Amino acid sequence: MEDSTSFLVVTPHPDDAEGGAGGTIARWTAEGRKGVLVLCTNGDKGTSDRNISPASLAKIREKEQRHAAEAMGISEVVCLGFPDQGLEDCSEFREKLVRQIRIHKPQTVMTVDPARPYIRHRDHYMCGRVTLDAVFPYARDHLAYPEHLEEGLEPHKVSEVYLFRSDTPDTFLDITDTFDAKMEALYRHVSQMGSPREEREARSRARHAEAGKKIGVALAEEFKRIELWR
Ligand SMILES: [Zn+2]
Repeated sequence: MEDSTSFLVVTPHPDDAEGGAGGTIARWTAEGRKGVLVLCTNGDKGTSDRNISPASLAKIREKEQRHAAEAMGISEVVCLGFPDQGLEDCSEFREKLVRQIRIHKPQTVMTVDPARPYIRHRDHYMCGRVTLDAVFPYARDHLAYPEHLEEGLEPHKVSEVYLFRSDTPDTFLDITDTFDAKMEALYRHVSQMGSPREEREARSRARHAEAGKKIGVALAEEFKRIELWR
């Protein structure tokens, strides 16, 4: 990735990034930033339909994710292929994330906030936690996963992290112009959208309008932002 303003989105399941940050992702790509999306699990448990097999569901959801990523202007989707509900805080997962950071060299990494206590989706916690660990210190240190060096992958310092679905957001970004792209991306996850689009859109619009008030714009998404290097 040549673009020094590029960003990497790490999402636990297909559709999490769209719901949490789809408007911001679409805005950044519209501004010319290159965006890559890393899909950690294949989402093969995301159904109440007892007639669909996990393998078929995984195939459908990968296709939906690629289609949705296009609506947000994402240039590449990387599927890590872990089973749904199968993320662990382990070296195998961390290495895969460190590898993506070293390949794409993003200025910004975006993922889900792992800080929610008690009831939370375990994959969301693992995804956020292990991504933060991958950003710092692993991707930075050449002796972490030294086999990467032999493959020509240099260490990389990520400048900032944006966490979506945070209980303690401190950063609000204007998505007034990209709200439609966000909803389009969300509704490309056809297998996951139970409620009619108008209803979901109205709920979503009200939520983003609330966040928008914080910065005096019509619609905004909210994040916790962490700056690592100046
Ligand atoms: Zn999820």
